[in-house]
Parts: sequence; structure tokens; C-alpha cells
Amino acid sequence: MRLKSPSVKTWSETLQTYFMRKAIEIAKKGIRLGQTPFGACVVLKGKVIALNHNNVWKNTDITAHAEIQAIRSACRKIKTVDLSGAIIYSTCEPCPMCFSAIHWAGIKKIFYGAKISDAKRHGFRELTISNIKMKNYGKSKIQIIAGCMKKECLELFRLWKNNYGHKTY
Ligand SMILES: [Zn+2]
Repeated sequence: MRLKSPSVKTWSETLQTYFMRKAIEIAKKGIRLGQTPFGACVVLKGKVIALNHNNVWKNTDITAHAEIQAIRSACRKIKTVDLSGAIIYSTCEPCPMCFSAIHWAGIKKIFYGAKISDAKRHGFRELTISNIKMKNYGKSKIQIIAGCMKKECLELFRLWKNNYGHKTY
């Protein structure tokens, strides 16, 4: 058996941090624009193909979650509804609607920071069905990596709460 060298692990962790940081930065932009504190980044073959923040209030669209927005952008960009092999980085654990969209798109891996329970704690009317439960109930093969840059992702809620007129849904 060949063991991974420590440098390989470090490199993949660096990469994860790099893409999650992109999702965090776009979430911050959303907060500055009066949106809710969520961001998502879709990566295909090592390249960012979509980077979006939540736009529920801007679009008056309850489905305009960051992940849905990112999947829509990614599909438009590569002109297909099949995002096989792509990875999604989300600042918060995707809700059941977004998890389903991720499944429909064929995305292979989810990295997330904060949890659904964290969003709920901050006033969002989340359906508290975790991604791992969705995966198991739906017999999905998707890989889920929780707690990626969790501290920075949780910080987004604080930033958003400091915004005058911030509101949940
Ligand atoms: Zn969602």
C-alpha cells in the first residue's frame, strides 16, 4: 500500500481553502449588497466556473440560494445541465432544496463550512435535514466534507447581523 505523502495532503487542503475562500468572499459581497450571508463556488477541472452569493431579496425569489444561483451560472457557462465531476463549495451546508439541485446536476462532492443548524440558529426557517441524512435517504453517492473553514463561514452571520435592516426568510 502506498501512503499519501504529507505534502499531497497539504496541497489538497490548500486547494480546498482557496476555493472556500472564494465562496466566503462572494458571500461578503452579498452581505454588502444587503443579501443574506451565503456564498457558493462551483469548480470543474480545477477551475472556478461559477461564484455566486444568495440573491433571495434582490431577485424576490425564495429559491435564489447561493448554491442554486451557482448551479444555474455553471450550467449556462458550460451550456449543459450535467455538472458531472464538479465540486461545490458552500459557506453553509446546502438546504434540502439545494442538496437536491446538486444531485440533479451530478456534482460529485460538497464542501461546506457552517451547518444547517447554524443558519437556523440565526433565524432562517431551515428544514433541519442534514446533507448526510439526504445522502442516506436518497441513496446518493455524493461525497460530503463538512466543516471546511467553519470559523470564517460562521463569521459571515455576524457580519450580516451588523448590517442595518438584515432580514431572514
Ligand atoms: Zn438552499
